[in-house]
Amino acid sequence: KGPDPDLVAIAERMATVKHKILVLSGKGGVGKSTISAQLSFALAALDFQVGLLDIDICGPSIPKMLGLEGQEIHQSNLGWSPVYVESNLGVMSIGFMLPNPDEAVIWRGPRKNGLIKQFLKDVYWGELDVLVVDAPPGTSDEHISIVQCLQATGLDGAIIVTTPQQVSLIDVRKEVSFCKKVGVPVLGVVENMSGLAQPLSDFRFTKITEAGEQNDVTEWVLQYMRDKAPELLNLIASSEVFDSSGGGAAKMCREMGVPFLGKVPLDPQLCRAAEEGRSCFVDGQCTASAPALRSIIEKL
Ligand code: ADP
Repeated sequence: KGPDPDLVAIAERMATVKHKILVLSGKGGVGKSTISAQLSFALAALDFQVGLLDIDICGPSIPKMLGLEGQEIHQSNLGWSPVYVESNLGVMSIGFMLPNPDEAVIWRGPRKNGLIKQFLKDVYWGELDVLVVDAPPGTSDEHISIVQCLQATGLDGAIIVTTPQQVSLIDVRKEVSFCKKVGVPVLGVVENMSGLAQPLSDFRFTKITEAGEQNDVTEWVLQYMRDKAPELLNLIASSEVFDSSGGGAAKMCREMGVPFLGKVPLDPQLCRAAEEGRSCFVDGQCTASAPALRSIIEKL
């Protein structure tokens, strides 16, 4: 039996892509797409030629997070062309192919695997320094297929995103074992939504009266700070939201012998940037989370 023609075609297509990074998570909703999107923005800002491939077929959120909703992909004689945010940041997602963003994609395994292979085979990326692949959550058939396809072309490794709660960490352990079993190096684990952090000036303040009434006193507090100590307004206030007594992702990484890349706080400014399809790194707009994300990227 000769080599798999799909794998040969994928290897040919990927020959112009220097590095491939898979972004994984054990659960949905932990911020995998957010991290994939911001990582791509950051790498592009560093002048790398970047591709972002969204194969989270059942919940493609990448077009929105990159500000590309409603865009369509075009086909040329070279293949499917990615949609470009900037000349050095191209994006491909199933989201571009759905006529209606509200439509549920209910596809069985073989069809999903077929589409993933097609993405890898038919998208014309041109010369890329890095291809970031946003995978679906969990460890399913699709993951084995993705890994097999990418390994044939040299996969650098995987970043695993989790939240600090035990329930999420249990799934990350499965994710790490999956990587070990299929021979994918774990580049590191990111603990996302690790505490809440934002400038003090973005908080709302409520006074609860003896009668139990809630009064919004935000303007009074802010005015007091402006008058008495304006430097307080720029402080980043943070708070542990989830129980981290178990040591969180850092401890799990030590136990499993994989690198810990760092913590990213739950940051309403980052959530807004993601909703509006913006990079969190421009104009110091995500003061609480952008430095954390930057330090993670420096470790890669
Ligand atoms: P996943 O890809 O793991 O399903 P998403 O990246 O879609 O998760 O994130 C789920 C939601 O949480 C999105 O609305 C996103 O904007 C928000 N989010 C993710 N990480 C953060 C964070 N660190 N701070 C604030 N909001 C976040």
